Amino acid sequence: MLNQLRSIVQKVSAAKDLQSALDIIVSRVREALDTQVCSVFLFDADINSHVLMASQGLNAKAVGHVSLAVGEGLVGLVAKHAEPINLEDAPLHPSYHYLQETGEEVFHAFLGVPIIHHRAVLGVLIVQHEERRRFDEAEEAFLITLSAQLAGVIAHAEATGAIEGISPSGHKTSDTVFRGVSGSSGVAIGQVVVVFPHADLSQIPNRKAKNIDKEIEFFNSCLNNVREDMRVLYDKLAGHVAEEERQLFDVYLRMLDDKALGNEVVERIKMGVWAQGALAYVANEHVRNFEEMNDPYLSERAIDIKDLCSRVLFYLQDKEQVETEYHDNTILVSEELTPAMLVDVPKDKLKGLISVKGSGNSHVAILARTMGIPTVMGAVDLPYNKLDGREIIVDGYQGEVIANPSDELRTRFRETIKEQDQLTEGLEGLKGLPCETTDAHRVHLWVNTGLMVDVMHSLDQGAEGVGLFRTEIPFLLSERFPSELEQCKIYRDQLEAFAPMLVTMRTLDIGGDKSLSYFPIEEENPFLGWRGIRVTLDHPEIFTAQIRAMLRASIGLENLQIMLPMVSNVGEVTSALQLIKKCHRELLQEGLDVKFPPIGVMIELPAAVYQTRALARLVDFVSVGSNDLTQYILAVDRNNPRVAHLYTAFHPAVLSALQQVVLEASAEGVPVSICGEMAGDPGAAVLLMAMGYDVLSMNAAALLKVKSVIRSISLEAAQDLLDQVMHLDDAQTIRSAVDLALYNAGVDRLLRSSRIN
Ligand code: PEP
Ligand code: MG
Repeated sequence: MLNQLRSIVQKVSAAKDLQSALDIIVSRVREALDTQVCSVFLFDADINSHVLMASQGLNAKAVGHVSLAVGEGLVGLVAKHAEPINLEDAPLHPSYHYLQETGEEVFHAFLGVPIIHHRAVLGVLIVQHEERRRFDEAEEAFLITLSAQLAGVIAHAEATGAIEGISPSGHKTSDTVFRGVSGSSGVAIGQVVVVFPHADLSQIPNRKAKNIDKEIEFFNSCLNNVREDMRVLYDKLAGHVAEEERQLFDVYLRMLDDKALGNEVVERIKMGVWAQGALAYVANEHVRNFEEMNDPYLSERAIDIKDLCSRVLFYLQDKEQVETEYHDNTILVSEELTPAMLVDVPKDKLKGLISVKGSGNSHVAILARTMGIPTVMGAVDLPYNKLDGREIIVDGYQGEVIANPSDELRTRFRETIKEQDQLTEGLEGLKGLPCETTDAHRVHLWVNTGLMVDVMHSLDQGAEGVGLFRTEIPFLLSERFPSELEQCKIYRDQLEAFAPMLVTMRTLDIGGDKSLSYFPIEEENPFLGWRGIRVTLDHPEIFTAQIRAMLRASIGLENLQIMLPMVSNVGEVTSALQLIKKCHRELLQEGLDVKFPPIGVMIELPAAVYQTRALARLVDFVSVGSNDLTQYILAVDRNNPRVAHLYTAFHPAVLSALQQVVLEASAEGVPVSICGEMAGDPGAAVLLMAMGYDVLSMNAAALLKVKSVIRSISLEAAQDLLDQVMHLDDAQTIRSAVDLALYNAGVDRLLRSSRIN
């Protein structure tokens, strides 16, 4: 059974489009269950009906023509309840709706299971039989399992069609929505540029060849390079490895020599596709076909194809460094955006970002917010490699991507963009004004930085200090650990730019979703693993180089604070303090006039929340990292789009942890700030202020928005609101209560989370 399942799923995954995928499903399932009929109905939102998309056993002419309105027939019932229906004699059921064109009247036994993807019912998979009998438990379980596995494949195939503007049943559609989560608020309309990591055949986008003949010539020359490499390797290995292993290169050479692969790629280039895309297409097809084979020897050949084609890809990418062309309104799309991809695009051309992987609090999304670029993360169903060059809308408020926009929708979004620009312009006037409530309670707005470009922007927005300098960002953009001197220069630039304002430098916080290419950390559970202080305490040479660089950079400025990330116990703090003191002593011995800076600890783990007082007694300040605190309290990976809907700092458990930290740190007389992303959410900022946080540190792009909201509310009203929400037991209700309060305070709709009206 398991083999049958696997083989069907593999075959369907390899199908070239939705129709072929469905045709494979119905014929293979009918065979596997030995039934007389297998059919698939898919929901077509365009006509609000379930359409018979494929069938083996029903009248072929009915396929594509017959449909059932929502809720109609047994199909409608399965879809409505999202549950299987197993009937001995279907025509006797009150919901049975006889479809004359299908010729189904002779079939009695009926089993229909819903096809569910991300909680949405995509359609219904049905088997039928002439006999009056119930399908047994094993058959039902088989169909349910299969349907669950196929749902993703069907959704992907549907999405691929939708990108072309075609609904499942072939109607022309527009305004195709792909859901993700908000990475950075704002709306953008632009042209897609797909970026992809090198040497990865699976992520090459489909692009047009500029000159077909030249592209073929170039491909052939790269193919020759690989042939040549293979020959050299083959000769070199003579006498060094077993003859069978050496034969592998012979196989490779033959694959290239008989031109099987090469010719297919050339044929595809002739269709107008660029060489990398053509190679990737042919390679992926062959790899899939081999992987599907039941014979283990043959299925292993997929690895050979991948290896061979990757070698060709290497030459294609290496010999002709294709400069990515960025449009004036670039929407950058990638399977997994990285900070390096963002900084490669000229700033004035980058309008929007979309990442298939990752979530709203992935570090790349945080960077996007800092840069103020509308971003959608976790758009898991987006067939991104079909998007290059297309016009697309990024709705960073709702976390949606819209393809094939209609004129009407385009106009609506252009109006929102205009409204956004007006709001930004309006906020400019707040730059010189203090951040205080209508009843004169003063709140300090600091910024989170990481890149040098943040500095000017932050100063321009009126930042009063740096609450978090993510020192790992320059490390992420480097190709090796920066030396003490190199680090010292980076830190000096930050400290000088903000002096005399305080700059809080966090010690290296790698691990989790921040991995250095030159120091890879591979773990099963990276967010529960070797992260932050755990790494640096295990590598004192990395830690002390960084501390020395920070201390040296601060000479004469005295505006440095050092902060420790990912602390889970007091031992980590005392060890870190010892190392910092040692660095300080050494620098004094070297004759440098270095002041000992204030040291702080981040409260990011539930363990640290419960130990706030003990930790606070060891340091000069504490700062809450609500991004990690939320993920660890709720056990929701901040990077995982599947659970992104569960990630919210408005959860009552998170709010009460935040309240506890500020009360306990204050009881120890230690200043407490917050530097997680929630500080930059205007509604959350109001709650934090009411809890007693006096320093809110956020991305520079959020600063004036938060200031504008705090200036429109009184501390008293904020405290009343806090009292009210602390009695609520659900994040959504809390969010709504906060939104309502902001609405009542006259806050602009673009600054509230639910932007309806
Ligand atoms: C946090 O966890 O809230 C935080 C500020 O640190 P980072 O987002 O870099 O993990
Ligand atoms: Mg953190």
